[in-house]
Amino acid sequence: MNPTLLPTVSRREFVRHAALAGAALALPRLSRAADAPPPGRKLGIALAGLGGYATGQLLPALQQTQNCKLVGVVTRDPAGKGKRWAQGAGAGFPEKNIYTLETMHQMADNPDIDIVYVVTPNGLHAEYAILAAMAGKHVISEKPMACTVAECDAMIRACESMKRTLSIGYRLHYDPYNLKLMSLGQDPDFGPFTSMHGDDSWFMGNEQWRMQHKLSGGGPLMDVGIYVVHGAIMAAHAYPIAITAIERPKARPDFFKTVEEGIEWTMEFPGGVTAKCTSSYNENFNRFHAEGPKGWVDMPSAFGYNGLQMNTSKGPVIFPTVNQQALHMDAIARAILDGAPSPVPGDIGRHDMVIIEAIYKSAQLGGKRVELDYTV
Ligand code: NAD
Repeated sequence: MNPTLLPTVSRREFVRHAALAGAALALPRLSRAADAPPPGRKLGIALAGLGGYATGQLLPALQQTQNCKLVGVVTRDPAGKGKRWAQGAGAGFPEKNIYTLETMHQMADNPDIDIVYVVTPNGLHAEYAILAAMAGKHVISEKPMACTVAECDAMIRACESMKRTLSIGYRLHYDPYNLKLMSLGQDPDFGPFTSMHGDDSWFMGNEQWRMQHKLSGGGPLMDVGIYVVHGAIMAAHAYPIAITAIERPKARPDFFKTVEEGIEWTMEFPGGVTAKCTSSYNENFNRFHAEGPKGWVDMPSAFGYNGLQMNTSKGPVIFPTVNQQALHMDAIARAILDGAPSPVPGDIGRHDMVIIEAIYKSAQLGGKRVELDYTV
């Protein structure tokens, strides 16, 4: 395995490298406090979609960011929610910075807004992201990047054509435990890892867009299983070459009519390395385990906002709590201010979508091995 570090390459270069190396990976860089912006220059972020994640995580994080700040919103409820956010959220913002899907094109005339952060249901990411790019704004899209590879391509094309950066909401690129996992994968006392196991599952009890395929693109795999996909890629320092998957039988078929309730898949990496993974809406787990020839790492809590845990064959690892979302948004804003490529570019999200499509394809084919081709 010869992993290639490609945090700043264009899509064309990336595809070429991936084809050559078979194992190319865009790796994260940790935001540093020393990366302070020039005095007085904070980029303006408009949040599109004011639901649980925007309200519970991004809004408080935007009160800690150094390189960006909340300056607007896109909402289906401009007169109610929009005005409440303008008056109360953080330091507040002018009501002219409240937009709807229908008025987003008018952002082109609003210099307050530099970045639109799309936090809507998955099935709407592409539409909002493309509208934002066409209005001349940089884009951050929450995970999963979109519901299909074709949508990812349309988002990448829109941002490239408008010369705007496209970033993905992979907050774990700014989590010290996940970064440690990555570094242990390259530490000769542990890695390269040969065998990995991961599970990200939660018990879904309430009716919502996540169980409507049109808005979610799929069940727990799209929602949280993507963290296991991405965690294995980070730990392996490579992209998988093949997938096998099976959908679990449904315990609540009337509840999960159009999406899977649970799914199991194996990612096969170059050199015979494997990751056996699970994601379900019927139990509560959030864990990852990796083993190499000389050592192991176990994360009983692997993918949350905080409270992560790590044990290794050399003892426990403990980091101070960080605000993943603040570090993530600051790193993206810093890159834009510096004229640098995104540290979490759309290519990474597209690669994960290629893998997710292959997982669903294998499950539909009853567990048949599906080889991955990232170039199409
Ligand atoms: P949510 O249901 O709490 O919020 C969704 C928001 O989108 C709501 O404000 C809703 O009004 C709005 N919306 C706009 N158009 C809509 C439509 N047609 N139907 C339904 N809602 C519509 O969801 P959430 O948990 O905030 O998730 C939003 C996005 O953020 C998803 O893509 C999800 O995967 C992602 N997310 C990421 C993380 C993370 O840790 N990175 C965590 C949670 C959610």
